[in-house]
Amino acid sequence: MMRVAFAILFGLILIAPGVRAATQQPADFKRWLDGVAVEASHRGVKLALAKATLANVSFRPRVVQNDRNQAEFIEPLAKYLGRHASDNTIALGQAALAQWQDTLLKVEKTYGVPSQIIVAIWGMESGYGRAQGNYPVIDALATRAFQRQSDKWLRDHLIYALQAVQKYHLDPKTMLGSWGGAMGQPQFMPQAYISYAVDFDKDGKADIWGSPADVFASIANYLKENGWQPGYLWGREVTVPPDFDYGLSDGTTLPMGEWAAKGVVRASGLDLPDTGNMEARLLTPSGTQGPAFLVYDNFDAIRRYNASDAYALTVAYLADRIVGRPPLTNLQPTDDLEVTNGELEEMQKKLVKLGFDPGEVDGMMGGQTRKAVLAFQRANHLKPDDGIPTRHVLQALRAAVPSLPNAPAPAAKSGKPSGATGNSGAVPVPVPRG
Ligand code: CA
Repeated sequence: MMRVAFAILFGLILIAPGVRAATQQPADFKRWLDGVAVEASHRGVKLALAKATLANVSFRPRVVQNDRNQAEFIEPLAKYLGRHASDNTIALGQAALAQWQDTLLKVEKTYGVPSQIIVAIWGMESGYGRAQGNYPVIDALATRAFQRQSDKWLRDHLIYALQAVQKYHLDPKTMLGSWGGAMGQPQFMPQAYISYAVDFDKDGKADIWGSPADVFASIANYLKENGWQPGYLWGREVTVPPDFDYGLSDGTTLPMGEWAAKGVVRASGLDLPDTGNMEARLLTPSGTQGPAFLVYDNFDAIRRYNASDAYALTVAYLADRIVGRPPLTNLQPTDDLEVTNGELEEMQKKLVKLGFDPGEVDGMMGGQTRKAVLAFQRANHLKPDDGIPTRHVLQALRAAVPSLPNAPAPAAKSGKPSGATGNSGAVPVPVPRG
């Protein structure tokens, strides 16, 4: 799980400033580890155990390289879904659901989280257990925390990892995961492991690496503790009317009846369900060029696993497909939606120049940038006016502000995932789960 700043589109990569040069083991690494051991001893870890564990840590230059990789593209939902919820992924999920049905039902009964949601997260995080990463996470976290000493949360995770070793008598060599430090089949960062991992099969160890029962229960426990409401859906795909105000997909929360009054219907064309005072917010990740969703509290529980709308929508969609629900109705990838982070930064600069407020000029998509794009579209009578920074908007901004230089044209695409699954180890900046 990676927490990535508020995101409507994605490609949400944060690269911290001040990353040190990658070297083989730096001279002061061992001394720095001694300091970590002492700090851990103040946080409940026996000093001897902390020292013994950290004595075996290896500095990993490869982790430093990965930490620097920056995704270059803001990936449209259709592409992200295509990568993470392909027909093959859905079929594998269906097979997993059938294979582990009995265990999943026990977990579902205990935590109130539907089996298909658990399986979908399992699929997103580690390809149903096939790709949990093979970095020793204590090495990975020590390397990252050393390189980025101003990022205190990385050092915290290293200490949580030491707490985990102590709590469950784990062998650090078996604590494998992504280069970012996300562990095992649910890709829990150490803090999430300490807080939410479950020994469901009662063998004395919360084995998120090798025990499917523990993996499923740990995922379900995470969702339950983060607000999952048993018996409710995550949300649904909807259709909005042609003249709809896309400014309403800015996080505005309204009762279902009010969305219905604004002309929002189910994607099937049927009226929204009459759910009394239940509230929902609207997501239109690709504006007029993609699907719309009304999402409920359970969507936010999934989002707490990984703070990205794209991630949560993909988990929800994959879960729905696994149990046979239909594909989305409005999902044609379009080149218009593909911009680089550099081009988005150019758009933000030009918006500022024109007096709009896109928030931080950082090449990242956030709610404030979306509002500024919408305001620019409306001020210039551009259609669609949906707040999405498309190539069309880029061209309009270049025409409006020729005095600022253009971002370099897109280079060959790296194909590097810009999302937040953590399953291949190629994921950008993990932050603490939970
Ligand atoms: Ca166990």
